[in-house]
Amino acid sequence: MEYQDIADDLTSVLLTEQQIHEKIAELSRRIEADYAGERLLLVGVLRGAVMVMADLARELKLPIEMDWMAVSSYGSGTQSSGVVRILKDLDSDLQGRKVLIVEDIIDSGLTLSWLRANLESRGAASVEICALLRKPDAAKVAVDVRYIGFEIPNAFVVGYGLDYAEKYRNFRDIGVLAPHVYES
Ligand code: 5GP
Repeated sequence: MEYQDIADDLTSVLLTEQQIHEKIAELSRRIEADYAGERLLLVGVLRGAVMVMADLARELKLPIEMDWMAVSSYGSGTQSSGVVRILKDLDSDLQGRKVLIVEDIIDSGLTLSWLRANLESRGAASVEICALLRKPDAAKVAVDVRYIGFEIPNAFVVGYGLDYAEKYRNFRDIGVLAPHVYES
């Protein structure tokens, strides 16, 4: 889906498909250097990270494995509480594995800090995080993210895997959702 298909639902395009792909290539070069010769396991967080995972995995010139988790965080409305429930667990045994969590966006950071602790407790050799986007509120929780694509303003964004009520995930760019969409 392209901009003209949903132009009325957006206030602006924040990042184009091309900017995203250039950034993923840049992050991939750093990941390749850091994990050269290692057996890396990418853990994608469903469902938002599907696009980042697909593009990152194909861009990496490393033999990687992929696994997926789905989590839901309990909270009131749009606020994340940090209490997380596993909806779909990994199939892989993490004992001794080097793990890279692949996330679409970090808002409060609560979900990711819980997830990292959870994966570390399963005996992983290391657990690092790669997130395409980070919002300013993430600063409130000290979650150490090794690979970050873009620092973005505190707006609700959609596209490239990110949804609003399950829509817009297949928009190629990342845009700011127009208020009339969620106020109506
Ligand atoms: P937190 O970091 O607050 O624990 O939660 C991050 C999760 O909130 C993300 O994985 C994503 O599902 C959702 N989220 C946060 N900000 C946005 C946004 O601007 N747009 C969309 N579509 N989801 C968001």
